[in-house]
Amino acid sequence: MFIAAKGAKKINKMPKTLRLVLGDQLNINHTWFKTVNDEVTYVLMETRSETDYVVHHIQKVIGFFSGMRLFAQALSAKGHQVLYLKINDSINLQAIDLNCRQLIRQYGFEKFEYQLPDEYRMDVLLTAFCENIDIPSQACDTEHFYTSREELGLLFKGKNSFLMETFYRYMRKKHHILMEGSNPLHGRWNFDAENRKKLPRDFKSTPPLLFANNVNEVYADIKVAGITTIGNVNPDEYLWPINRKQSLTLLNHFAEVCLPLFGTYQDAMAPREWSLFHSRLSFSLNTKMISPQEVIARVIEEYHKRPTEIEYHQVEGFVRQIIGWREYMRGIYWLKMPEYSTLNALEHTNELPAWYWDGQTNMKCLSDCIRQSLDYGYAHHIQRLMVTGNFALLAGTHPDEVDKWYLGIYVDALDWVEITNTRGMSQFADGGIVATKPYVSSAAYIDKMSHYCATCYYDKSKKTGEKACPFNSFYWHFLSRHEEQFKTNARMSMMYNVWYKYDDTQRQEILTQAEHYLQNIHQL
Ligand code: FAD
Ligand code: SF4
Repeated sequence: MFIAAKGAKKINKMPKTLRLVLGDQLNINHTWFKTVNDEVTYVLMETRSETDYVVHHIQKVIGFFSGMRLFAQALSAKGHQVLYLKINDSINLQAIDLNCRQLIRQYGFEKFEYQLPDEYRMDVLLTAFCENIDIPSQACDTEHFYTSREELGLLFKGKNSFLMETFYRYMRKKHHILMEGSNPLHGRWNFDAENRKKLPRDFKSTPPLLFANNVNEVYADIKVAGITTIGNVNPDEYLWPINRKQSLTLLNHFAEVCLPLFGTYQDAMAPREWSLFHSRLSFSLNTKMISPQEVIARVIEEYHKRPTEIEYHQVEGFVRQIIGWREYMRGIYWLKMPEYSTLNALEHTNELPAWYWDGQTNMKCLSDCIRQSLDYGYAHHIQRLMVTGNFALLAGTHPDEVDKWYLGIYVDALDWVEITNTRGMSQFADGGIVATKPYVSSAAYIDKMSHYCATCYYDKSKKTGEKACPFNSFYWHFLSRHEEQFKTNARMSMMYNVWYKYDDTQRQEILTQAEHYLQNIHQL
């Protein structure tokens, strides 16, 4: 049986239009929902096609299902007609297109409408679906992003390369954000140089705002369905926001508590410090429970309220993530898909080490980042980029393997933003579309930005020999095996000069150490 969401009016006459709401389209402020129309029925559905295309974190599946169920209830409470298909409903055909087709046939809908999906595979699926049904269909915008799918492509039309900074300035000007007339506020576009501090040794963290949602019902449904997941959860106290109200509470918490130090410690890492001053808004944003415009407005409002407490670089750094990186990645995605998802410019073929799935490695930085990812479905940007991503790249891992891991493990992971960050920014598999050089480092960077190395089994200062930190020999092994590709890259020439200063014996020892570690990678 199709279940009308809790609180829904009984559907007496079969309405004419069926409107599909996907799990990442929980935007209550969308034009669709402004007026109640008895001739429109909304449908949301939990399907195996979505839970099984990769092994997801249990907190991710719970977050999506809970958010969808509450969203359906919110629509019903506003008077909309809503059908909701739960994962274990007997009539559920477990695929979005199959369920929609069944509904149209069974209830005689005369029109099908959907909001443009963010994921390429869903776009293809819904386009094909609409071509194969014999009723009219229509797609509309999600009204979420600042940019259209095509905007980045148009901005860089005729150019050989892309630059986030160019896009970011364009966005600041176009939307008049942090501007003074036609100039950037405080005279500079980018204050990143102020945003790279390590945490002090005696740092005392502020506890993150966690929600204690009881999600036992959803959790039980996932177990009954037999969906394979990774990671841990406490279903009595589920920590992520699952509705708009909680998302706004998290936004306010960020503005009031975290923003004053967001930029300063944006790149910092420390054992057991899993969220620091990060907003953790990505899940709420990516499911569209809140909009990027709301986030930007709230953050700038707080800055104007407390100009002496909140330095400008904290705010600029945050704004850059939202109107810069987030929109930029989406633009690259729509410009370069579907080829983008198969790129492997460095021709890496290795397996992802087995301990990526349980955190059981002696490398402190990796065990800490992986364990927190399993516990919370979250790691902040530098942990993703410079610890797990850096290691996978240095170790020559196939980007498909890396993508699978990132797409599964993070609550905020959706193809459009995961793949561009992973395959592009982190693995350089796109050959430099997103990044101008590979994000690789030895232990020196990790030690500079974190407190991991002090308690690690490995020795951060050793390149070879017993307990030498694997990042060190891997780093040089990477530069050596990709020498032809990168030695002329102006941003890497300094490192090649260091490499060339080692004598042949030293170079060989480092490469031999790396080979040894590569052969024993599952035991590191
Ligand atoms: P904050 O540090 O508080 O930043 C604020 C917001 O800025 C984020 O919520 C996010 O919406 C946006 N943002 C910041 N950096 C980026 C970026 N590089 N790309 C897009 N948006 C950005 N982000 C995802 O939303 N989903 C993913 O699947 C994802 N996968 C990633 C994989 C790798 C290998 C890397 C290096 C980064 C990935 N990111 C992804 C980007 C970034 O790490 C996360 O957006 C961020 O960590 C989310 O935490 P937060 O909300 O606390 O972010
Ligand atoms: Fe990571 Fe190496 Fe530091 Fe250990 S010594 S924490 S492996 S960078």
